[in-house]
Amino acid sequence: MELASTRIPDYLICMRKEGQDKGEADFRDGLRFLKRHRPDLAVRSFRASVAACPASCSAELSARLYWLTVALFRLDQSDLALKSLASAQKLRPRGWARDMYRRWINDYGMPRRVTPELDDFYAFYSIHIGAYLGRKERPRFDSVNEKDAVMRIVLDSWLALSRSGRLACLGTGDKLRLLKDWRVPFPSFGLGAGDCSPIVQVDFRAQRKLNGDDRCNCGSGLPYRQCCGRTSSLRELSCE
Ligand SMILES: [Zn+2]
Repeated sequence: MELASTRIPDYLICMRKEGQDKGEADFRDGLRFLKRHRPDLAVRSFRASVAACPASCSAELSARLYWLTVALFRLDQSDLALKSLASAQKLRPRGWARDMYRRWINDYGMPRRVTPELDDFYAFYSIHIGAYLGRKERPRFDSVNEKDAVMRIVLDSWLALSRSGRLACLGTGDKLRLLKDWRVPFPSFGLGAGDCSPIVQVDFRAQRKLNGDDRCNCGSGLPYRQCCGRTSSLRELSCE
């Protein structure tokens, strides 16, 4: 991944109001830590600067999220970095964050893998493990045995789907529907009686269900499946 230089962009300097430090000191600390090759400390400072930035300053917030992305990436936390970048690009669709995001993601809004088959597999895996854990009171595995058993079931289901040949020749929107609808026979251990129905996203203005290939209704210009409807990895969901 290409990273921009650590120089503070001019537009940020001129938009700052004198005497108002809304996390600006933390932001500068973050840049300094990055220069000193301390991404761990940079992440902490950038997170504080993001938390302090008013949502109305979208360009500034986008820049801070962008640099948080850079620091997380250097810490090798690429899943969390992508989550931060996804937010940054929504706030400033014509900035660096959008360019980097488009280079980095696949059609599911996840980190691009070496083959399209692996992209499909990781989407399937994250969707179903996430769904399993989402039905528990606490979204985590309680034991190594539970984790092993659930992962084996998901892998077996993936093999069945992959061998069925049903993914061939489908566009990503249709593939995503099939991945989500594929029945994975989880046992009931550890699951509460909670509602496990999938959340249906709706475009309220058009009064219809939002599909993955539709333009996202946040106005980013990206397909919904690559923007607000992107598939989160397990690390983003804090499941691993
Ligand atoms: Zn969106």
